[in-house]
Order: sequence, then structure tokens, then C-alpha cells
Amino acid sequence: MTLPKGTMTGSLKVLAPLLIWMSIGWFSYPYLIKDIADAAGESMNIEEVRTFSLIMTGVCLSLGILFGIMGFRGKTVDENEFKRMTGELVICQHCHREAEKKPETIKCQHCDGYL
Ligand SMILES: [Zn+2]
Repeated sequence: MTLPKGTMTGSLKVLAPLLIWMSIGWFSYPYLIKDIADAAGESMNIEEVRTFSLIMTGVCLSLGILFGIMGFRGKTVDENEFKRMTGELVICQHCHREAEKKPETIKCQHCDGYL
């Protein structure tokens, strides 16, 4: 079963700002961890930390921007597409129009024929 195009739009809208927020965090990480290490009197390879944090900043920022573009500019799903998938919306065999199959009635809303 393939989901209709635009199904993930809602999740992407939530993930995009979180990823951008994470990229800011990764960018500031080497500066903050250096202060913490200095205060604790420990030594650390700051260049290694800085390299890793720059990679993570790039990954999070690009994913955040990509998800933002996909989430806010992409297609949203028509509710009827889900109804067709679950069988709530069917083609009437009598009038060949789309009819909603509700639990309380099995008759077509257009021609009163049985679905
Ligand atoms: Zn009908």
C-alpha cells in the first residue's frame, strides 16, 4: 500500500524547526563544551569536537531546510484520498459516481442504489 503524496507534510512541518534548532545547538556545542572542560580542569581534543559539530550542523541545517521546503510548500493530502484507501468512498455501480459508504447506510447518496 502506498500512501498518497503529501501524507508526511504534517510531520515535516514539526521536524523542520526542530532540526534547525538542533543545528544551532550543534554549532554552539564546541564553545560550550570547551568552557565546561576548562572549568572542570580537563583537557580534550577540541579540533575533533569542532569537526564533528560542524558536520552535524551541516546535516541538521540542510535536513531542516529541506523538510521545511517539503512541509510548507508541498502538496497537502485531500481527505478523500484517505477515504478511497480505507473503502469509505466507493464508486457506485449504478450511477458510477463517488459515494460515501457510511456504517448507518449502504445506499448511494446520488441514486439510492445499494453500494
Ligand atoms: Zn449511485
